[in-house]
Amino acid sequence: MKPIPFNKPYIPLASLKNMAISAMSGTIAGNGRYTKLCHGVFEQRFGFKKVLLTTSCSDALEMAAILCGIEPGDEVIMPSFTFMSTANAFLLRGARVVFADTLPGIPNIDPAEIEKLITSKTKAIVVVHYSGIACDMDRVMSIAGKCHLSVVEDAAHAFDSYYNGRPLGSIGHFGTFSFHETKNIISGEGGLLAINRQENEKRGEIIWEKGTNRAAFYRGETDKYGWVDIGSSFLPPDTTAAILYTQLCRLDKIQNQRRKIWWNYFEQLKPLEEKGLVSRPFIPDYGYVNGNMFYLLTNSPEEQISMLNYLKKHGIHAVFHYFPLHSSKYFIDKHDGRQLPNTDRFSSCLLRLPLYHHLKERQVRYIVKKIEQFFQEQ
Ligand SMILES: *Cc1c(COP(=O)(O)O)cnc(C)c1O
Repeated sequence: MKPIPFNKPYIPLASLKNMAISAMSGTIAGNGRYTKLCHGVFEQRFGFKKVLLTTSCSDALEMAAILCGIEPGDEVIMPSFTFMSTANAFLLRGARVVFADTLPGIPNIDPAEIEKLITSKTKAIVVVHYSGIACDMDRVMSIAGKCHLSVVEDAAHAFDSYYNGRPLGSIGHFGTFSFHETKNIISGEGGLLAINRQENEKRGEIIWEKGTNRAAFYRGETDKYGWVDIGSSFLPPDTTAAILYTQLCRLDKIQNQRRKIWWNYFEQLKPLEEKGLVSRPFIPDYGYVNGNMFYLLTNSPEEQISMLNYLKKHGIHAVFHYFPLHSSKYFIDKHDGRQLPNTDRFSSCLLRLPLYHHLKERQVRYIVKKIEQFFQEQ
């Protein structure tokens, strides 16, 4: 069996055609034809009210942090079990990041922990829908509503995933998505900000275009074009949007394939879970499987390392995820010292298996067989 990489981006040939059309059209800067086509899909298919394509999810998070009105000293509650971009966006505004533990059985932030950490300085809550499995958004929104806090959904894993039938990223005040090559729908680097609170729409557009009112000017809503606020160059070139649009045109095909692989892993690993050797992901009633990633949990940190090495020896590239942010080199002396035991357990026992468009059924069977053999050889 040839080595199985962790990820292999799916780039249909039609991407080249769309990139060429974009490149020859006369506008390859941001907010061109393909950007508008992408915006249209997000608005029509998913019902997002206002979306802005960005160069990454990191950028979308930075825009959300500005729109939340974060000022130095404000506190922002978020999980430690996430990517550093979730925290960076708010630290760049001078916020104090307060890390909350996850639930014991799902690697998502624990709403009860959020409640305990709210102070008079808290300004926002950020949730991450890990692997596309929804956080309990009714609970989060009700906590935020009581204390007048903004809610940002870091939906980097959660494109085309749902909470009780509602698209993730559309429930909080802001939703951010990633189209990095490891995510479901990709454009190399890329992201999206969904603005779900109407009062933030206009300022969102201004921040997106370097603090200018360019977008409103081109719509004829203002007769002067100029610098009106802070901002940055958050828009991707239209050639990037052309790659993304090609993917959006194949959304069902891409998603069906990823979900099929996910369920194959899930079914085939059932006997190992019944023997108590591994745990599979738990999907709550309100959740949905968008095939973003497949993970399993080992019973101990030692087993995580030895299983990773065993799979590597057999040409299978599995990876661990995430190193907890509260104990990272950058943050450890900024953290208030609270233990986050569930976060630590997920970090030291979670293993992500290869999952990409061209992964074959026989490769999934091979990977599962190797995991079984790992336990036989122990
Ligand atoms: C991938 C990821 C990001 C960053 O996405 P980029 O598009 O690479 O900036 C942010 N948050 C989470 C949870 C992610 O998985």
